[in-house]
Amino acid sequence: MSEPVVIVTGGSRGIGASVCRKLGVPGRTIIVNYAGNKAAADEVVADIQKNGGKAVAVQGDVAREADVLALFHAADEAGHLVGLVNNAGVVDMSQRVDEMSVERLTRMFSINLIGSFLCAREAVRRMSTRHGGKGGAIVNVGSAASKIGSPGQYVDYAASKGAIDTMTVGLALEVADEGIRVNAVRPGIIDTELHASGGIPDRVAQLQSKLPMKRAGTADEVADAIVWLMSDQASYTTGDILDVSGGRAILP
Ligand code: NAP
Repeated sequence: MSEPVVIVTGGSRGIGASVCRKLGVPGRTIIVNYAGNKAAADEVVADIQKNGGKAVAVQGDVAREADVLALFHAADEAGHLVGLVNNAGVVDMSQRVDEMSVERLTRMFSINLIGSFLCAREAVRRMSTRHGGKGGAIVNVGSAASKIGSPGQYVDYAASKGAIDTMTVGLALEVADEGIRVNAVRPGIIDTELHASGGIPDRVAQLQSKLPMKRAGTADEVADAIVWLMSDQASYTTGDILDVSGGRAILP
């Protein structure tokens, strides 16, 4: 029997790394995708191996189709695909829409949206009973930004995550009777390096007093929700979007 395999995009750091560590148990192989930070991905792989699990780090930009095909080829080599966590995502520097270049917009939508579509496409081609697969689960990582819109900061990012919400619902219904569940989480402010990559390293400190729980969430708290949605415990949950925002997503 070939080993069940789960791909986690952006598995080297933050929420994705936590998901990899939690899903990386004996009897399952995790493909830890990363964009450039090999050392961080190797550390995640080593942690999984320490716990008796199997893992492979695979470099690849989800916005590049050739990289996505290579990523899924690595999964095929390791066993049979049972899950995808579409987690890789980026923000950019704070800008108003009237300042945004086409290069910025293309990068944002290519990584956050087209990358998620390409990975979902490859996962469905392998897991759908329509294509001879045995079923599986997909979890997309959206953002509370899709509800808030992130004015003055990154409306492009928020819009890319709004499209992730829509893709989650549509794809879930498309493959609901093909053995695949598709869900999403919508994190609020989570304490990861994402904020520094958007030029605001102290964003968590700046915002926490304004958050309903007076603190940011942790990568582990989001990963726990993702792990549940990926699991058989969520066997009747599909097309759903779970806010993991400490109340931020429902603020008026
Ligand atoms: P993070 O700490 O910045 O980590 C980002 C991860 O994505 C890294 O593993 C990075 O790889 C990878 N990555 C970036 N661009 C990629 C690409 N083009 N192809 C493949 N991998 C790529 O981010 P995070 O906070 O964990 O965010 C994870 C997801 O949660 C994102 O989709 C983000 O939008 C969403 N989210 C985060 C928050 C938050 O407050 N942190 C809130 C809502 C939603 P390298 O290590 O190689 O760079």
